[in-house]
Amino acid sequence: MAKYIFVTGGVTSSLGKGIISASLAKLLQARGLSVTIQKFDPYINVDPGTLNPYEHGECYVTEDGAETDLDLGHYERFLSIFTTQANNVTTGRIYQTVINKEREGAYLGKTVQVIPHITDEIKRRMKLLGNEGYDIVITEIGGTVGDIESLPFIEAVRQLQWELPEEDCLVVHLTLVPYLKAAKELKTKPTQHSVKLMSENGVHPDIIVCRTERPLSPEIRRKIALFCNVKQEAVIEAADAPTIYEVPLAMMREKLDVICLKKLNITQYREPELSAWKEFLDKLKYPKSKVSVGLIGKYIELQDAYKSILEAFVHAGAVNECKVEVVNIHSEFITAENVDEKMSNLDALLVAPGFGHRGIEGKIIAVKYAREHGLPFFGICLGMQMAVIEYARNILGLHDAHSTEMNPDTPHPVIDLMEAQKQVTDKGGTMRLGSYMCELDPSSLAHTIYGKPRITERHRHRWEFNNAYLEAFEKAGMHASGKNPESTLVEIIEIPGHPFFIGVQYHPELKSTVENPHPVFVHFIRAAKEYAERKEAVKNPLLQSEMI
Ligand code: GLN
Repeated sequence: MAKYIFVTGGVTSSLGKGIISASLAKLLQARGLSVTIQKFDPYINVDPGTLNPYEHGECYVTEDGAETDLDLGHYERFLSIFTTQANNVTTGRIYQTVINKEREGAYLGKTVQVIPHITDEIKRRMKLLGNEGYDIVITEIGGTVGDIESLPFIEAVRQLQWELPEEDCLVVHLTLVPYLKAAKELKTKPTQHSVKLMSENGVHPDIIVCRTERPLSPEIRRKIALFCNVKQEAVIEAADAPTIYEVPLAMMREKLDVICLKKLNITQYREPELSAWKEFLDKLKYPKSKVSVGLIGKYIELQDAYKSILEAFVHAGAVNECKVEVVNIHSEFITAENVDEKMSNLDALLVAPGFGHRGIEGKIIAVKYAREHGLPFFGICLGMQMAVIEYARNILGLHDAHSTEMNPDTPHPVIDLMEAQKQVTDKGGTMRLGSYMCELDPSSLAHTIYGKPRITERHRHRWEFNNAYLEAFEKAGMHASGKNPESTLVEIIEIPGHPFFIGVQYHPELKSTVENPHPVFVHFIRAAKEYAERKEAVKNPLLQSEMI
């Protein structure tokens, strides 16, 4: 029988419920328990796949092809487990199921209502992963307590607290304890109000995690405990951390895991085994070198748009004991005139995934620079497609080459809509999604990187390399080094002879975790380090002669 921990949030959004949930899960996992996390989102979209990054940050794709919330990325990066469609549920999906059932006649004769029909469906889904053999299922409830949309979820938690044995269910409430500069004080009132709001909805938190800029004094803890009706040990300080990867250790110091285990009456557990995690943190904190990597995209002003890529850099940097300084470069503002200036201080270049026309030409100009200057290049999805277009235009001499996504009338559609996509009209959940196999050419860079002939990676795209041009590309020196064995779809392109030039149709960033950093990112950062060293040697000939 699984036990359930619910994580709710109060006062404001962006307090880091996902990180707190993932950190708690990490600690429980490190104590030998099997844990999974799921997220319930209160919006009406069936999934976040149709939301743009301004609305919702990155869309995270799971192995089974679900388009999900980016918090699932944190869960996977912290726990090194795979999540699935079942780990992310929205109001839209709940209503869709209930309405479909109503049409089928499942409720014949009855009025279908939020309570009990919607809440029953929420509860059914909340318990679904509990049947998969996990000891603990953590459920993060999106949104903030008090939002109209969150009410059915809070109500479902209230009902579950009654239905499940008392020791099988626990509620953690994350709240903000702001510091008022003028008063020189931490303020507990927003927390009191938010817990009161929860209580009005019939849910009483067992543990209160307080996001704060300053340490909580014993007095403040006592006050929160008193007003919020919890034990003082259940008031947890979550101070701002220099990196999200510190948070599990901070939560361990606050004994968040121990308090949960006690309340859930779990007695079989070990001391936390976190040696790999600590080793990673150590390398992260004390890098021996530094590289500057240009990240080219059209959403670079948004913190969350390229979340998994940024985290994969952190993982790969730690392996290389190298600080990865990410230089955000807006693709819309790259021109042939300013590209030298924008790229000259970089040690590597990553062209990001994306959709639509905006910023495309800037990406192509940046790829050209990387190709011509031997600058390590890594293109992901749209980034790979841009590398193909650049090569077609500037090496194959197909000056109007393009993707039919941007120019449906191009005379040279080197990137074209996949056959299976041609009849698709619906936008939600209809791309080529999730994990597919790729076979690697044994003599390729890709094979050296992965060290095996077959890999699986996750996808999210509609367009692909047009195989009608494959021979021309191969003859001209761009090699398709990875292909899907069934569809022969090109998954990887590279340019042999260039120090590091690789484009992938899939999304490797989605599979990089603290304990399993992604090999392409690891090799990319290594190539950046080597590039930086070569650059330094040219600047400093003395060093060069020493190196020889
Ligand atoms: N827009 C491109 C396609 O659909 C690339 C998608 C992506 O970068 N995820 O094929």
